[in-house]
Amino acid sequence: MEFEFVDWVRSRAPRSDKLLLGIGDDAAVLEVASQRCVVTSDMLMDGVDFVLDDTDPRRVGRKALAVNLSDLAAMAARPVAAIVSFAAPSDAPLDMLRNLYAGIFQLTEEYKISLAGGDTNTWQHPLAISVTAFGEPSQRGFVTRNGASPGDVILVTGSFGGSLLGRHLDFQPRVAEALALQERYRLNAMIDVSDGLSLDLFRVAEASGCGALVDLNMVPIADDARRLSKQRDDGQTPLDHALGDGEDFELIIAVSPEVACQLLVDQPLGIAIARIGEFIGERGLWQAMPDGTRQPLTVCGYEHQ
Ligand SMILES: [Mg+2]
Repeated sequence: MEFEFVDWVRSRAPRSDKLLLGIGDDAAVLEVASQRCVVTSDMLMDGVDFVLDDTDPRRVGRKALAVNLSDLAAMAARPVAAIVSFAAPSDAPLDMLRNLYAGIFQLTEEYKISLAGGDTNTWQHPLAISVTAFGEPSQRGFVTRNGASPGDVILVTGSFGGSLLGRHLDFQPRVAEALALQERYRLNAMIDVSDGLSLDLFRVAEASGCGALVDLNMVPIADDARRLSKQRDDGQTPLDHALGDGEDFELIIAVSPEVACQLLVDQPLGIAIARIGEFIGERGLWQAMPDGTRQPLTVCGYEHQ
């Protein structure tokens, strides 16, 4: 439902020349008083994005901000401030709310950003928390998801799958990594993986008007993906988890082959960067076969209801 609805809103959303980049990327870009500002917003809900009964509220608060910082990272924007609003059940203990904010403050401190305001509400329903984050583009500008071209290499940070085992709450948004990469290399397109490696890669390809060819042997599989596959024993392989689980909050980056060579030699980050394939002229998502041919690869991931 989400895609069609967002398309419907996008086609009707009012714009002005102050809106440099509107709905459809990881964040929007506004020009306010001749300064560019990158803005993104995300809402998390008890029972969908976390289970409050089983989770330390600090981890929930941290996640609510971290998912937004991950979207800013995907634009290569430096976080500046956040606005936090929530609706909590009316019987929620004050301690729970304090702990929720303690988790938020962990990250505001770590990234040196301001909490600029928000709204606090109670109701007779589970906790919902919404964060809007603001960032400034680096000197080299922001990176969108529509800049990949056929021939560009697909790079990814970190590893994928099984985030449900805990990483979806405790992940490190790749802000420092995105900024470091943007400073040294020309990045053609970028997205953070919130809904699944294959789905978010497909989004970059679609936005860029090309296709993506993946070498499945090169996909970095997280240990959690192996653990989850074993625990569940439902026929889903670790690779299936890596391609479709989502909430890895790693980056998918499109760069030219020359930049990819340099970057893979440099390995300039404290975390691994891997090449998993290339963008191609033919639309869609494809897997590379050992004999050099390609076959369609099913796009799987988390579809918002
Ligand atoms: Mg995103």
